[in-house]
Amino acid sequence: MSEANHPPADPDPARTRELRQRLEVVEQRIAAACVRAGRRREEITLIVVTKYFPDTDAAALVQLGVRDIGESRDQEARQKVVDLRAAVGEAAMPAVHIIGQVQTKKARSVARYADVVHSLDRSKLVDALGRAAGSAQDDGERTAALQVTIQVDLAEAGDTKRGGVAPAGVLEVAAAVAPYSSLQLRGVMALAPSGLSAHELAGCFQRLAQCAAQLRGEHEQAGWISAGMSGDLESAIAAGATHLRVGSAILGSRPPQR
Ligand SMILES: *Cc1c(COP(=O)(O)O)cnc(C)c1O
Repeated sequence: MSEANHPPADPDPARTRELRQRLEVVEQRIAAACVRAGRRREEITLIVVTKYFPDTDAAALVQLGVRDIGESRDQEARQKVVDLRAAVGEAAMPAVHIIGQVQTKKARSVARYADVVHSLDRSKLVDALGRAAGSAQDDGERTAALQVTIQVDLAEAGDTKRGGVAPAGVLEVAAAVAPYSSLQLRGVMALAPSGLSAHELAGCFQRLAQCAAQLRGEHEQAGWISAGMSGDLESAIAAGATHLRVGSAILGSRPPQR
């Protein structure tokens, strides 16, 4: 903490109550979608996306049993991890997932505190993260390998761009990960383009599932499908998602970006 070593604030009881209720609603949606898809809840990891919300919210969520949090930007995430660790202690720290695009120059920072980076989208970033995670291990700043998923661009050519590699480029990025023992390839990630019909959305997640199957064919351990947000988690679960990234349905609409 740059300002002062103030003691961690107690989570506000009213806010904690609100978070608990919203978390329950999301858990009910996940449970219902699992029933419809014939899947087990245990197959799915819920990542609660705390970006733009304070570390006190993250601490309250941890106290409610959340084991995975998602963050978008390095600068915000880095500080929040420090504050969260001070508030909940090392033993209770959730896994930290970076889900937003990572600039190559941020790789060194991210590799020091992130458990997972979902947004691998180019070989240059693979090299930067591979080297950075390797030196973080050498320096004793991390023990486990940095887990990564490859972000797939699900938009049709020329459509809205939400980042990621075209489906045809996934195996090439996967091959770039392989030489780094500091990285562990876990699967694919995607954001569905906005404004799709239910039918189009299902088709989108189906394409992602095909990508995932192709990747798993060559990299057996890379079985994660990170897909599904507040608005489309049911459709993602139907298509085999293993990791949901849910923000606003739990934390509320995001405050304006600073
Ligand atoms: C913000 C964000 C989410 C969460 O979106 P919600 O609609 O608030 O659930 C999920 N994935 C990524 C990559 C994000 O940037």
